[in-house]
Amino acid sequence: MEDNQPMKCQSAAEILHQVFGYRQFRGAQAEIIQTVVQGGDALVVMPTGGGKSLCYQIPALIRPGVGLIISPLIALMHNQVRALSELGIKAAFLNSTLSPEESRGVTAKVRGGAIDLLYVAPERLMMPEFLEFLSGIPLALIAIDEAHCVSQWGHDFRPEYRRLGELAALFPNVPRLALTATADGVTQKDILESLKIPKAHCFVTGFDRPNIYYQVTPKTNGRHQLWQFLQEKHPNSAGIVYCLSRSKVEKTADWLCQQGKVALPYHAGLDAQVRHRHQERFLDEEGIIIVATIAFGMGIDKPDIRFVAHLDLPRSLEAYYQETGRAGRDGIAADAWMAYGLGEVVTLRKFMEESDSPEERKRVERQKLDSMLGYCESVTCRRQTILSYFGEVHAGQCGRCDNCLTPVDTWDGTVPAQKALSCVYRTGQRFGAAYVIDVLMGRNNERIQGFRHEALSTYGIGADISQNQWFSIFRQLIAAGYLSVDIESFGGLRLTPASRDVLTSGQSVHFRHDPTPRVKGKRVTERSVRGVEDEDQSPVDESLWQALRECRRQLAQAKGVPPYVIFHDKTLKEMIRRRPENLNQLASVSGVGARKLESYGAKFLNILLNAV
Ligand code: ADP
Ligand code: ZN
Repeated sequence: MEDNQPMKCQSAAEILHQVFGYRQFRGAQAEIIQTVVQGGDALVVMPTGGGKSLCYQIPALIRPGVGLIISPLIALMHNQVRALSELGIKAAFLNSTLSPEESRGVTAKVRGGAIDLLYVAPERLMMPEFLEFLSGIPLALIAIDEAHCVSQWGHDFRPEYRRLGELAALFPNVPRLALTATADGVTQKDILESLKIPKAHCFVTGFDRPNIYYQVTPKTNGRHQLWQFLQEKHPNSAGIVYCLSRSKVEKTADWLCQQGKVALPYHAGLDAQVRHRHQERFLDEEGIIIVATIAFGMGIDKPDIRFVAHLDLPRSLEAYYQETGRAGRDGIAADAWMAYGLGEVVTLRKFMEESDSPEERKRVERQKLDSMLGYCESVTCRRQTILSYFGEVHAGQCGRCDNCLTPVDTWDGTVPAQKALSCVYRTGQRFGAAYVIDVLMGRNNERIQGFRHEALSTYGIGADISQNQWFSIFRQLIAAGYLSVDIESFGGLRLTPASRDVLTSGQSVHFRHDPTPRVKGKRVTERSVRGVEDEDQSPVDESLWQALRECRRQLAQAKGVPPYVIFHDKTLKEMIRRRPENLNQLASVSGVGARKLESYGAKFLNILLNAV
């Protein structure tokens, strides 16, 4: 056995230092690991990037026997096994991508005690012959990843997860560990019951993702605004751009390519092979942008996604939080950026009303969309709004969202609101915003003449307000429920009970001032905030940074793994900051474990020593 191989007798802290190369445990990791090492069950609810994997990886290395990890996501299994092998940990997976022969090879290794961590899909696990195989080998623990899939209340119920409760009777003495990033109170209870781990220690850490910066921009020209965002903040970063439709995905990807970016489309209408290839390139190469529908993202475990941009509005805050949560898993600052406009509010409302869903379901969907719109239009801390949606109290003033950095002005828009609403009423509650605005502004066109709307009392009463501002007012009126979108008149606007209060009892309405576009070159500086790791803030030596990345790229290519499997960005940045002068010093850089030091240390050290 090589001497950097983890030994079963090592302590958790030793494994953390020597194998993973990290200095200290994060949050509840140490406690969770201790619980499981001592044979207890645990439920871990920790946000993405919080460090859930170590919570079962380290106990599996300490306890005798093989650690079994149940994961529904094949891509994730591959990634984890690849990354663990780089660390010198003996890991393997069993799933449908292996041939029967390969599977037999893995089971033979497991039987021979040559595997410490074994990843399996839930369907495979519950097969009688597999359970029998397991009963003949010592198990260190059973980890159930994505444990919210067990719950019907979770957003991603999987029937095959339901049977995992049977493990309680089959392996009564093996500690079980359920892990998830998203589970509210009801879902947590359901997980404990379904998995039959009533005595599990619960470790619920907050939902907050302190390293993500949230920003919502009113949409004027989405593409142009996206471009500005990319140029200003992410000229070379890897990221995801979400769009609602397949055609928009294709067009946006083409356009970004024309501008010189490497942008790849991903949606369910593309050939499976093309999708796979694009996903692999996104993982394996650096600085690639994926333009995708919501079909993309489940199980993507790329730590260095620097931004998630939405060119269209997601349907709910849950969806939004999950999609944006894919950014910055490595803890380094990342951006969640969205451009949102009147058109989509109308489209989404219309989609929803048009669907065949039963009324009960529509009601829930309407509420979800309203919360999403409420988030977009909010004038207070975005983080506070999101977290309170998930039932968590946050004091606000996070310092890492647009509303905190540039406080939003509001203005009393009661009079313009009354004008807008009465013009909707006078024109018969069947036109879209663009037409009503034309009437309000007193425009003279054939359509208006055709309907004789220049004779209305509301014709021209809004000429003192610009067209853009009117669009902003209508967007906010719809978002706040003062206007509804009627499907019978193809998206015409109608009054609602709430709008009557504004018209008749003079209830006041406040609007946010949409920010004027920032002057180019003026950059928002984000100060370091508690919870966001500081090293990313330090200026990097650009040429050294590029040299280290190039070394990493070559090593990754030769091994056929993504660059971050060799070293994370964070590790390279720390090398630049600390400038180690020998292998010993290099070993103390976070992310440099014994195996990686041995495999790559000399190469990276050489670059560091030769840098001027
Ligand atoms: P999750 O599964 O909760 O989304 P991961 O387990 O993938 O998160 O961990 C996120 C990142 O944080 C990984 O790159 C991991 O190596 C790193 N990490 C985890 N624990 C620590 C720690 N104690 N110190 C430094 N980095 C850590
Ligand atoms: Zn904030």
